[in-house]
Amino acid sequence: IPWIYGACVGSTGVVFPFVPGKSACFRCLLPSLPAINQTCDTAGIISPAVQVTAALQSAEAMKWLSGKRDKMRSKVHLFDLWENTQMDIGISRIRNQNCPTCGEHPVFPALTASRRSAYAALCGRDVVQVLPDPHRPITLDDAEKMGRLMAERVKRTPYFVEFYAFEHRMILFKNGRLLIHGIGSIARGQKLYHQLFG
Ligand SMILES: [Zn+2]
Repeated sequence: IPWIYGACVGSTGVVFPFVPGKSACFRCLLPSLPAINQTCDTAGIISPAVQVTAALQSAEAMKWLSGKRDKMRSKVHLFDLWENTQMDIGISRIRNQNCPTCGEHPVFPALTASRRSAYAALCGRDVVQVLPDPHRPITLDDAEKMGRLMAERVKRTPYFVEFYAFEHRMILFKNGRLLIHGIGSIARGQKLYHQLFG
């Protein structure tokens, strides 16, 4: 089953059909995710970027479903509607024979529970604690950068960074633990964390 990937933020978008056994996989392309990604909540998005991304994905799906698979994109397509640029990047050479997802001996690390972020509500405090994916830690520098992007109220000490986002007070400790204040449920904490850090 192919994965017709599309992503967009700001005025930019990316589309690529990942076809198992044929193309490189997402992990070959990006072995580890950056701690901070731009999101629609932190960077914004213009609706044409969404529509162009979806249209390009739909065209790839139609080629697959109608059996015209030789017509499918073999390069990653990137565009920026604001800067009027687009490019296609060939990725066939980055397919990694030792890739833990699509290589000869796959172990599918994304399906391992230890690689996920953990969330807990702290009793009676209206606070949700997030322990980020240990393979994708958030540093004090990351938190400071995010804090400055969201609001100017940022306090940094050698042990933690305090910042505000969407009117919630957040504290990130040096060991990666994040506290989100003024939030009643784990689900809302989880949503807010993904809005901020992607
Ligand atoms: Zn791979």
